[in-house]
Amino acid sequence: MIQLTGVPIGGFLSSAILGLVLSARESTMDGHRWKTLANKWRLNLPRNKVVSCSRYEDDLLLCSFLLCCECTHTVVDTTYGRDAHFDRNRDNERSYNNAMINKFLDTQVTITPTAVSFDLYYTNWEFINNTGEIRKKIVSART
Ligand SMILES: [Zn+2]
Repeated sequence: MIQLTGVPIGGFLSSAILGLVLSARESTMDGHRWKTLANKWRLNLPRNKVVSCSRYEDDLLLCSFLLCCECTHTVVDTTYGRDAHFDRNRDNERSYNNAMINKFLDTQVTITPTAVSFDLYYTNWEFINNTGEIRKKIVSART
């Protein structure tokens, strides 16, 4: 099978191709597209003071204490245009007290009004805490 369009994620050239295409878009955003958005939102701040972004290949993490979710989507869409589309990952998203918690790559990102922290993401967390379905099946099989 031959992929005719897009970048084959996981291929040996995907990192280099994504770097070439998306880094140029990110640079253009910081160079002049951000000024248009910032003016629209009446923010007189550089992009990196409003929204922090980190991309690893095709995974993107955005954190902002100033923009709402919809506005961060606007930043993403304006940055990457038709070259890349990012969907919000809600699979592991949850809130606890004042914290928003989500998974990014192999880390668990916790965002509070005053801090951002990164922890290892434990795929067997439910098993360790005795709350997962696999653990329940094992326990019920023993009894
Ligand atoms: Zn907004």
